[in-house]
Amino acid sequence: MSFIDQLISNTIRADVRAASSYKVADRPGFLKLDAMENPYQLPAPLRAELATRLAKAELNRYPASYEALKQAVCAKLGVPPDYGVILGNGSDELISLIATATARQDRRAVILAPTPAFVMYQRSAQFAGMDFIGVPLNSDFTLDMPAMLAAIALHKPSVLFLAYPNNPTGNLYDAADMAELIDALGDTGIAVVDEAYEPFARTSFMAHLPEFDNLVVMRTLSKLGLAGIRLGYMSAAPALLAEFEKVRPPYNINVLTMIAAEFALEHLDVLEAQAVKINAARTELAAELALLPGVEVFPSAANFLLFRVKNADDTCEKLLAAKVLVKNLGKMGPLAHCIRVTVSTPEENSAFLTALRAALKP
Ligand code: PMP
Repeated sequence: MSFIDQLISNTIRADVRAASSYKVADRPGFLKLDAMENPYQLPAPLRAELATRLAKAELNRYPASYEALKQAVCAKLGVPPDYGVILGNGSDELISLIATATARQDRRAVILAPTPAFVMYQRSAQFAGMDFIGVPLNSDFTLDMPAMLAAIALHKPSVLFLAYPNNPTGNLYDAADMAELIDALGDTGIAVVDEAYEPFARTSFMAHLPEFDNLVVMRTLSKLGLAGIRLGYMSAAPALLAEFEKVRPPYNINVLTMIAAEFALEHLDVLEAQAVKINAARTELAAELALLPGVEVFPSAANFLLFRVKNADDTCEKLLAAKVLVKNLGKMGPLAHCIRVTVSTPEENSAFLTALRAALKP
């Protein structure tokens, strides 16, 4: 064995060695509909104003305090009075912080989620040394309540992740079911309601935080149109939030992100108007997809649509050849032959439909 192979085998954990890294498709010139990005930029005059502010940033200094940004997040994004937030480098980082704070040394703690779920719940559990238990959704993507309640009773999960709406299925779970699960966790489990797609769903557990001391509500500016700056936030009962704050790396939000996020929140109306346009485009795209022979399209409250075709591998290969990137959810399981596509501008959606119609031709 070479020195480097020996070194890796002596030092890097076996499960990390066996894992693969998170792949991001980077294909310039492609129609990028695989990552649920907002297709719209901030309008040019606002970008120019932002550039002026960014030019004044003191890049030689660490970010001094996040108080102004945190206060803006709380004031503008519906955080209940007296509830604060923790900021993360995307909600991805917050998911990982939650795992870091809940992984135990005396036994393997459990993270539970209905599946299919956002992949970072499982990855963060694994890398923190926790067990991940997935409870399959019903075939219509609703929560299998008897199975969820049984899993909570059996595994006593430290954390339950519920994405609301869910990725990759796009649906909202029944809010009363979710409340029942949060109650069932009691004081042995924290429920994290991941509202990454709240700008499109326009329904939230944020206002319900005071009703549940074991509830964390997590969101992001990514889908609202700021995926590039990487800013996630989460709120919870102040005492619980203070525990998560201990594992947050210092300076995890950089100065440029801080300035850009503060600026964006001053212009939240612009971003919200974009979300309204995307929702209208989703309705249109869903109707067009439903007209295609052999295509089944599922209801979505997010900025993406899930649809089933006869052969997803073949369809995605042809879309790729036509320079269209979507997410192929594979051949197996409840999402067999399903494809997830980001809702974009009407122009890009129709370019996608043209490519899809061609790809579906035998
Ligand atoms: N939660 C869900 C359900 C998501 O789909 C995503 C992004 N795909 C994230 C969290 C992560 O978002 P970000 O790190 O960009 O804030």
